[in-house]
Order: sequence, then structure tokens, then C-alpha cells
Amino acid sequence: KLIVFEGVEGCGKTTQLRRSQQWLVDSGWQALLQAKGCLQHLVTTREPGGTALGLQVRQLLLEPSTEVMQSRAELLLYAADRAQHVEGYLKPQLHQGALLLCDRYTDSTIAYQGYGRGIDLNLIAQLNAIATDGLESDLTLWLDLDAATGLARTRQRGTIDRIEQADLSFHQRVQQGFTELAARYPQRITRIDASQTEANVAEQIQKVLSQQFAK
Ligand code: C5P
Ligand code: MG
Repeated sequence: KLIVFEGVEGCGKTTQLRRSQQWLVDSGWQALLQAKGCLQHLVTTREPGGTALGLQVRQLLLEPSTEVMQSRAELLLYAADRAQHVEGYLKPQLHQGALLLCDRYTDSTIAYQGYGRGIDLNLIAQLNAIATDGLESDLTLWLDLDAATGLARTRQRGTIDRIEQADLSFHQRVQQGFTELAARYPQRITRIDASQTEANVAEQIQKVLSQQFAK
């Protein structure tokens, strides 16, 4: 199974992904699912940067530069990272029976390059189809947080990357993208209220995961 965490900057994806991994072990879910033969092992990964090639692409994407990165060049770099990740990591892992927790996936491309940069959504859908070879997430947890609050959180963290430097209106369009995606794919995407405390957000996620595994 492929479970994806999505959301704007500073929504807590990475923190919550780690907490979920720990909880799956501590709560006994992992052992139970293993005993039932539903999964072999549990792994976490991320985009961009889930492979060696992807890490280099991630650097290219996130390093601030004096040259303006063109939107289509950016789109293709994210797609290259994803193609490598899907074929070289996600598919082999799923084949070996992994439960995968992945930090960002195709919805980020729709939200950031589509809604954020204004690239045609049909073009992005085609490119996502090429990069993923049709591999979709089984469940996407959308950590819903307003863009200004999220950006304020990342700026407290210190170093900010090229995309976190973009203006608030860009990040608001990204947030709008996630909002519309969640409305359009209610089966696949579950909204989590990420404005709550870290512990409360973790609880909301645990509830959703328990429901998913009880199926
Ligand atoms: O999740 P994380 O913040 O580590 O992702 C790295 C950066 O890549 C994010 O700051 C996000 O703004 C950016 N990104 C993007 N388009 C994507 C995926 C990620 O601009 N499709
Ligand atoms: Mg970021």
C-alpha cells in the first residue's frame, strides 16, 4: 500500500509521517498486518529526493539561484524525480509487500506547478501519468493548513529554500489547489485539520489509518 502525506509548507507532513511510522510499530498495527500477510515491512520515503538521482534533482530544485527557473523546466525536474522514484523504488518496494509512507506525490505537482505556477492542468495530468506509469496512492492524507500560518512556521525553522521564498499569494494558490483536489477526489484524499496541536493532528491521522487497515 502507498500512503501519501500532502500539504503546504509548514503543515507538519514530515513530522506527522515520522510519528505515524512510530505509531504503526508501537500500536501493534504493523505486527498485526504482518501476521495477516497484508504487509512485509514498513518504509518511509519522499519526493523530491527519494532516490540518489532524486536527491541531486532536489538540490537543483531547492537551491536559491540568480537564474530564474522556468516553470516548465521545474515541472520536468519534478517529473524526472518521480519517474526515478516510482520505477526504481516505489514499485520494487510494493512488489516486496511494503507499506509505504511517502512525503508528497502527484497532488503536489498539481498544486504547486498547476495552481501555483499556472501550468495547464491537463498537461500536468499527462506528465503525472507518464512519471507514475499509473501508480496511484491508496490513501492521501491532506494536512490542511492556511498558507500564511504554514509559511510562518517554516520561517521560524531558519533556512528557507527557493520555493519557500516565493510570495504568500503563490502559496495561497497552492493551498487552493489542495482544497480543490480534496473536493474532487473525496475517496482517495482525507482532510486532516493541521491547525491543531501536533498530538491532536497525530490522533486524527491514527484514526484514519486505523479505519483504512480495518478494511
Ligand atoms: O516537502 P518538502 O518541503 O521537503 O519539499 C521540498 C520543496 O519542494 C517544498 O518546499 C515544495 O515547495 C517544493 N515542491 C514543489 N513542487 C512539487 C513538490 C515540491 O514546488 N511538485
Ligand atoms: Mg518545503
